This record gives sequence, structure tokens and C-alpha cells, in this order.
Amino acid sequence: AGSTSASTIRQVKLDRESELRIEVGYDSPLRLRLVTGTAEIFGTELPPEIWLTFPPRLKFAVFAWYGATIELDGTTETDYTADETPMISYVNVHAILEGRRNRAKASSSEGPRVIVVGPTDSGKSTLSRMLLSWAAKQGWKPTFVDLDIGQGSITIPGCIGATPIEMPIDPVEGIPLEIPLVYFYGHTTPSNNVDLYKVLVKELSQMLERQFAGNAESRAAGMVINTMGWIEGVGYELLLHAIDTFNCNVVLVLGQEKLCSMLRDVLRNKPNVDVVKLQKSGGVVSRNAKFRQKARSYRIREYFYGLANDLSPHSNIANFSDLSVYRIGGGPQAPRSALPIGAEPAADPTRLVHVNINRDLLHLVLAVSFAKEPEEIISSNVAGFIYVTDIDIQRKKITYLAPSAGELPSKFLIVVCEALGFDSKCF
Ligand code: ADP
Repeated sequence: AGSTSASTIRQVKLDRESELRIEVGYDSPLRLRLVTGTAEIFGTELPPEIWLTFPPRLKFAVFAWYGATIELDGTTETDYTADETPMISYVNVHAILEGRRNRAKASSSEGPRVIVVGPTDSGKSTLSRMLLSWAAKQGWKPTFVDLDIGQGSITIPGCIGATPIEMPIDPVEGIPLEIPLVYFYGHTTPSNNVDLYKVLVKELSQMLERQFAGNAESRAAGMVINTMGWIEGVGYELLLHAIDTFNCNVVLVLGQEKLCSMLRDVLRNKPNVDVVKLQKSGGVVSRNAKFRQKARSYRIREYFYGLANDLSPHSNIANFSDLSVYRIGGGPQAPRSALPIGAEPAADPTRLVHVNINRDLLHLVLAVSFAKEPEEIISSNVAGFIYVTDIDIQRKKITYLAPSAGELPSKFLIVVCEALGFDSKCF
């Protein structure tokens, strides 16, 4: 490992089955290209000879199955090659899933439903991405489901969602942000409202079930589900809830013996569910709380401005009377232990509360619901997000940024108490 300074072009030779692990520098992007051989980034093959630009702070690996030469231009925080990786075991999993997809297609039945579980920073998102990209490369359109409300890769933090993956995932852009199916939870940890989280997971699964029923192609391709790194206590319960709700039949456990044996134990009377233990890659980079917080902030910024500042959000003005703002749940639930004996917790976690528009909404991100009636808000997915930039109490006008111009698809907006770890300096 070592950092480099001058922005001269350097060549790196990769032996077969080895990878170049890179953390792009904090201030400037890195250019990289494949010169000879073949190589992939998290399951997506690199085009030969073409320079790709990776944004600051990105952490990734270039893996070569048969050897390759790579050129780098720019500074890195670290870059080093490693020849010990779990890639063979990962691609073996892919091969098994591939067999199941083919059988599902032949018998018009259901393909594999894979869920990836493990502690924070065990490489769950990365493995999900590889499995999806490898499947897409072979012509499948698997569905990616992201249940990680903290560092998920679908749209902004605080959401769960799903999207079909039709092409290997772009190594720079990642999963496209404009995606079809998103549910807004509004917090970055499920403990704020566990019941609401479960309700949304259920809604998402039912919606996918309906889509699968009418689409044999995506049914056979199956799903890959990424989860949160919270695996203790309520986090563990939520994993079981997800496995059950999505009818998963393959559970991939990354880097944790204990979790694996617990899951094997509890799922032993479900013979159609395979629990597979996989090694964590030595390349997975741990990210501390501050980094995660920053990453969430950047993600929200990216939603409005694009990865390379290449989008320009539209500033729009609406009358208070044109919008109807709601909050879901009455704040965090009081633990039973904090209540007088015999008392029931009052706040219904999935209760809808109408919110008056005032300056408290300034600098908040609001979700735009697809609901047609207030009663539909909880069960509806969201169309997108707006960011409130001004509230004019006198004139009763609200100014907001949206990714595109034009009227909002619905007047119903959902607000959160928490700012999603969002830093208004980003705007
Ligand atoms: P999790 O989803 O379990 O929290 P991630 O898959 O997001 O973990 O991995 C954490 C970080 O490590 C990400 O920034 C990812 O790009 C990086 N990473 C994963 N595998 C490698 C690797 N082999 N080499 C370099 N970086 C990696």
C-alpha cells in the first residue's frame, strides 16, 4: 500500500485471479483504463483502451480472471494488488443461481430469490452488485431489491426500493437513480419506527409479487436483495422478516459464523432455503460513522445535481394550498418500560399526521407520494423528492428544488423529523 502523488500515468500488471484495490484520493478524480487482457469492476467488464473517470473517495477493485494490464492517471489514497480474494467462491454461487434460472425458465417457474446478509462493511452491496451484473451479462433481468436505508444504492437514503437490472451495472455511475419502485421510510435507522419499516417491506414485496405474476422473464431471473448491516436484536428480527416476506430461497451470509449458524438453525425446517456462508473480501473498506454520514449527504446531493454536477435541478414555486404535507408516525415509540404500569404506548407508528406548512420545513427533503388520497400515502411508493429552499409565510408560497421542471405528480408530500444526515451546505 502507498499513496502516490504526481499525476503521471502508471501501469499496473494484474496476474490471473488477482485484483487492484483502489481508494481514489479525496480531492481529485482518478482516470483508469484497461490496456491488455480483460478485467472487471464488481462484475462489469471494462471496455478496452477507454479512459474511465472515477470520482474522489470511491473505493473499488479491478479484478482480472486471466490477467490484465491497467493504466492509472491521477492520485489515489491507496492502491495495491491482492491475489487472495473470495472471487472464485462468489462466481461459483453465480453459476448455481444461473442453473436455477435456466430451470425456472424451462418450467416457467420462479428463479432464485437471493438475500445477502452480514455485518456492516462485509461487502454485501458489492456482492449483490456482482451477482446482478454477472446475471445481466448473460441476458437475465434480475430484480435488485435494496432494503438498506442507511447506505443503500437505490435513490436517496431513508428509502427501500427495487429496480430491474437490465445491463451490467456501470462501474462509475452505479445503479441509476431514477428508478421505478421506491418506498420512503424517512429515517436512516429502522429502530426509529420498526413497524413502519416492516409495513414498507411488505408493500414492496407485494408490489414485486404482482409484477412477477405478469412477467415470466423477470420471475425466472429472480431477485438479489441487499440488507442492512444491523444483525443483532431487532436487526436480526428484521432479517428474518425480510427472508420470510420475500420468500427467499438462498441466504448468503458474509463473514459471520455466528449469524450463519443462527440462520441455519432457525431455517432448518425450511428445506428449500439454502444458507450459504461466504468469506468476506479483504478488500472491503470499513467506513466510519462520519464517512457514512458524508456519503448520505453526497447521495442526496447527487440526486439533485448528478454525480459529476451534470444535472441542474429546477427551482419551482407552489402555493401552500396546492400541497398537502404529512408525517408518518408520531415520532419514536416510547418503550413500554418507560410507561406507567398498564399503560399502552399511544403513538401508532403507521399513523398519518397532517403537518402545517411553516418554516420548520425549510431545508428538508420531502418525498412526493404517488397517493391519490391521504389514506393511500403509507402504502404508496414515491415518485421522487424535493428540497425546500424557501418558505414565504406572508405570501403563502413554498420554493423547492426538484430534479425536473413541471408540476409534481401529486399534492401529497411526506416529511421526516430527521434530516437524513443531510448537510444543507451541500446545496
Ligand atoms: P456493505 O454493503 O456490507 O456495508 P460494501 O459492499 O458497501 O459493504 O463495501 C464497503 C466498501 O468497500 C465500499 O466502498 C466498496 O466499494 C468497497 N469494497 C468492497 N470490496 C472491495 C474490494 N475488493 N476492493 C476494494 N474496495 C472494496
